Amino acid sequence: MEQLVRLRLLLGDQLNTKHSWFARIDPQTVYLIAEMHQETTQVTHHLQKIVAFFQSMRNFADSLESQGHKVVYQYICDNPQRSLSERIIELIAQHPIECFEYQLPDNFRLDQQLQEIAGVLREKGIKVTTHDTEHFLTTRDTLTLHFKGKKQLLMESFYRMMRKKHNILLTPQGDPEGGKWNYDHENRKSIDSKLQLPNGLHLQNDVEKVVEDISLSGIPTLGSITTHAFFWPTSRDQAITLLDYFCEYLLPYFGTYQDAMLQDEPFLFHSKLSFALNAKLIDPKEVIDSVLETYRKNDRISLAQVEGFIRQILGWREYMRGIYWKEMPEYSSKNYFDHHRLLPTFYWTGKTKMNCLSQAIGQTLEHSYAHHIQRLMITGNFALLAEIDPDQVDQWYLGVYIDAIQWVEITNTRGMSQFADGGIIATKPYISSGAYIDKMSNYCKNCQYSVKEKTGPNSCPFNSLYWNFLEKKKDQLSTNPRMAMMYRLLEKKDKNELSAQIERAELIIEQPDRF
Ligand code: FAD
Ligand code: SF4
Repeated sequence: MEQLVRLRLLLGDQLNTKHSWFARIDPQTVYLIAEMHQETTQVTHHLQKIVAFFQSMRNFADSLESQGHKVVYQYICDNPQRSLSERIIELIAQHPIECFEYQLPDNFRLDQQLQEIAGVLREKGIKVTTHDTEHFLTTRDTLTLHFKGKKQLLMESFYRMMRKKHNILLTPQGDPEGGKWNYDHENRKSIDSKLQLPNGLHLQNDVEKVVEDISLSGIPTLGSITTHAFFWPTSRDQAITLLDYFCEYLLPYFGTYQDAMLQDEPFLFHSKLSFALNAKLIDPKEVIDSVLETYRKNDRISLAQVEGFIRQILGWREYMRGIYWKEMPEYSSKNYFDHHRLLPTFYWTGKTKMNCLSQAIGQTLEHSYAHHIQRLMITGNFALLAEIDPDQVDQWYLGVYIDAIQWVEITNTRGMSQFADGGIIATKPYISSGAYIDKMSNYCKNCQYSVKEKTGPNSCPFNSLYWNFLEKKKDQLSTNPRMAMMYRLLEKKDKNELSAQIERAELIIEQPDRF
């Protein structure tokens, strides 16, 4: 029997079957994949999220073994408290391991932890090598280099650079196809009641065993699950099935309705690919290529749909990763507005009279999913207007969503949605009164509050909170040119109405769970 001389670590979000590591079967290499307690207890996670990771890791290990690779798989029930370094050192003690290799983690904490482990191993005479995950279209420092010497880190500039670098949607002369880089203005329609909604693809995984193991190991979780028809993808094949479904049925409408929200319709035309992408079951370039191929073959699909989707993956996703590596670890404690209030209890139950929040939170607890505008303009908007501590907001987003991994969660939450970074990511805070929510959804029609009423006990809480926020943050925001129009409207506002709104807003901020 061959001796194992090389140990390679695979983290739960490094499930990339196409990685060059797997091109050759080496009988002297062993892969370690471990379901670790430390990764499940940083915050309380949605049960579906832990299940999705563990089931995908198990499927990944099975597929490696069936190809002939050697794998040590450690289940959550099997001594869960063991640290990562103990697991690695134990294996090294059991085999004549000479060399330890790992793929660069996407998480800052794990990156630090692995550097420490590497130091200890080197002292023991073990050779340590790091490898790229071969997943992203950028390296950790691409964004930092792109913006070197620049004050503003505008996503649009980064996105155009990425379009050019990867030759995506360009004419032979290097100009954007259709003459415009960005079709954002065409991507803001609400849903017409006559529009036929897609059935949606719901994969069917049986995850009973994983759920049982999680329950036995005592990991605290939130949310619910359907164990026999778990619909998140847990293998590369399933991720591709989801991508194919998206291209055929959802892409033709994606851009137009990407900001729309509808009562009891959690997914609409969204791809649900974020978990598969973040766990690296599927490659972002492969997703983009597939979308482009569908577009080229199908004249039913307009450029605005395709550009809108590609911007999310080639632009926002890679941009957020770049910001993370540029700004961490300081980023995780930024609190520009010095907000320190507790997250309302209804974020954990969905029980509030505000229908938009009840809808967005309700589907989050049920499916571990809400789409971008629900996260930004419903739950994020309320948290910012209600002055919630960004630490609390971060912990919630990191826990509840299927796709939440710190590099993409914290940049979106603390940066884009809470403006806690003071404008590194967003050029202005994403805030709105009830009018925007009413325009983009039918939530207000089903709400106990009246979106049209500006003051009084029946008025939409977002209306008071919005004007109160603008008034209170004048010093920090009124000189921002992108806020100029809002401040002009504030100046013109009836003073009695404003004071009534400020009074009501203070009540909501003090006791949000009463609303
Ligand atoms: P689609 O709408 O189909 O979009 C396609 C893909 O584009 C997504 O799968 C995702 O990979 C990418 N994408 C879209 N928007 C963004 C974005 N702003 N940043 C990075 N990638 C993006 N996304 C995460 O993957 N993990 C998170 O933890 C996360 N937290 C968020 C928190 C807040 C407050 C906000 C406002 C957004 C957050 N997002 C996060 C971005 C976005 O909401 C999700 O990627 C998207 O809703 C996932 O659903 P989908 O796969 O159906 O996306
Ligand atoms: Fe939300 Fe206000 Fe509309 Fe109710 S009326 S759904 S609280 S925006």
